Amino acid sequence: MSRAALARAVLRGLLKRCPKCGEAKIFRRWFTLVARCPRCGLVFEREEGYWTGAMAINIGVTELMFVVALVAGLVLTWPALPVAWLLAITIALNALVPVLFYPFSKTIWISIDLLLHALDERELLRGS
Ligand SMILES: [Zn+2]
Repeated sequence: MSRAALARAVLRGLLKRCPKCGEAKIFRRWFTLVARCPRCGLVFEREEGYWTGAMAINIGVTELMFVVALVAGLVLTWPALPVAWLLAITIALNALVPVLFYPFSKTIWISIDLLLHALDERELLRGS
């Protein structure tokens, strides 16, 4: 896969689009991904347990945001730490980020999976 194709697939995942064709309307609601892409027919859930990777991405991004916010709060307010504020902000981040990032984690995971495991013949036939 060329660098341009790699960058395009990753960008589509970051923008909540179908990684294969770039279709934007692949979510019915914030949490509801359609079964297959309406444009190219890509079946998004490729196997049982497929979304474990998306969950790992979502948890990783959430914890990264948590650590960045906590360290920034500690550094910026040292030595007079506003503990209650830091707690409130970091708890809010841990509650909100996974919800807001949920659809992006799915499309990013699909992009990564397509880059690592190309579609096989059966999957290509299902799409047509
Ligand atoms: Zn598509």
